[in-house]
Amino acid sequence: MNNFSYIKASSIDEAVSLTEGNEDHTIIAGGTNIIDLMKYFITEPDTLVDINKIQGIHDIVRLGDGGIQLGALMTNAGTAYHPVIEEKYPLLSKAILAGASAQIRNMATNGGNLLQRTRCYYFYDIHTPCNKRQPGSGCSAIKGYNRIHAILGHNENCIAVFPSDMCVALAALEARVNVSGPEGDRTIEFADFHKLPENTPDIDNTLKRGEIITGIQLPEKGFSKNYSYLKLRDRSSYSFALVSVATGLELENGVIRESRIALGGVSHKPWRVREAEDFLKGKEANAENFAAAADMILNGATGFEHNNFKIKLAKKAIVRNGLMALNPESQRPGAKPSL
Ligand SMILES: Cc1cc2nc3c(=O)[nH]c(=O)nc-3n(C[C@H](O)[C@H](O)[C@H](O)COP(=O)(O)OP(=O)(O)OC[C@H]3O[C@@H](n4cnc5c(N)ncnc54)[C@H](O)[C@@H]3O)c2cc1C
Ligand code: SF4
Repeated sequence: MNNFSYIKASSIDEAVSLTEGNEDHTIIAGGTNIIDLMKYFITEPDTLVDINKIQGIHDIVRLGDGGIQLGALMTNAGTAYHPVIEEKYPLLSKAILAGASAQIRNMATNGGNLLQRTRCYYFYDIHTPCNKRQPGSGCSAIKGYNRIHAILGHNENCIAVFPSDMCVALAALEARVNVSGPEGDRTIEFADFHKLPENTPDIDNTLKRGEIITGIQLPEKGFSKNYSYLKLRDRSSYSFALVSVATGLELENGVIRESRIALGGVSHKPWRVREAEDFLKGKEANAENFAAAADMILNGATGFEHNNFKIKLAKKAIVRNGLMALNPESQRPGAKPSL
């Protein structure tokens, strides 16, 4: 790790002004990702700007439209166990609790979760080419060991996946991200927040230089009656998703009125296909219809030498998770898996 200076910002404006004009100044919130990136020499800021003392972005605020805003500095644990989240947005609670460990969730913040970087092994190994770490150097994963990599939305520049669990639920819930920056405040639709690799795989999202995440807005609709988050991974805890699925359903007599299905572990950003969700509208919530939607969602998916299995895995996960969403009791802590 390089030597660095450390400053505590006491307001959003101060954090913005400290980071906007200086690429070597980096925000630290929970520190669970940025410190690892520094230890591996992937990023070498000369100054860490600690935002933890900024007031007013550590909690939940109720919004006039019935939704809520999660503070950027709320911890992942504080969010998942908050009574409002457990009651109105249990899909989010479950997705957060599927990630990391209790210790990490106690430190990790909501803002930091959105900005965590990929877990591609080559990204973390500074002795190998990686376009995300060093633009123009090449992608070691394409012909390397690519078991955990993307099957959707990738290109020749980068086949990494975005590793967050929380963000898969946020995509399904159609959250919005509030940011403050040198040009003022703005709100970004969750679907537009993370980006595909395109020609700039080193850039993971649409934040501008100096912009700070202040909160995450959740709309009133939380799919609290019929929801499920399914995370498939190599170990049952403390492991990133090979494939994950967040499903929210609105049902009337077994017929789907509205559906949301977002995938994690398969692309550079949480993956949603609106056509598949529209297809399910007015259909019976059964395995056959979920399977047809899964085919639509995975349409165009292509794997690499070691991760072709993810295509079938994702299809089966969508069907299984759709059926699990019919039985909310299966989502309660300690409940047996339903099927
Ligand atoms: C061993 C391990 C296992 C993990 N497993 C999982 C898992 O299974 N699922 C999962 O989803 N996550 C997992 N994580 C990732 C963890 O959830 C993230 O590291 C965490 O959410 C990041 O939050 P943080 O507050 O610690 O961010 P930090 O490390 O402080 O910051 C991360 C990045 O965000 C920037 N940043 C932070 N807050 C803001 C803000 N408000 N505005 C602008 N920029 C900001 C920082 O500059 C930095 O670039 C794991 C982490 C570890 C170490
Ligand atoms: S997949 Fe992306 S992050 Fe991994 S080596 Fe290739 S360019 Fe780097």
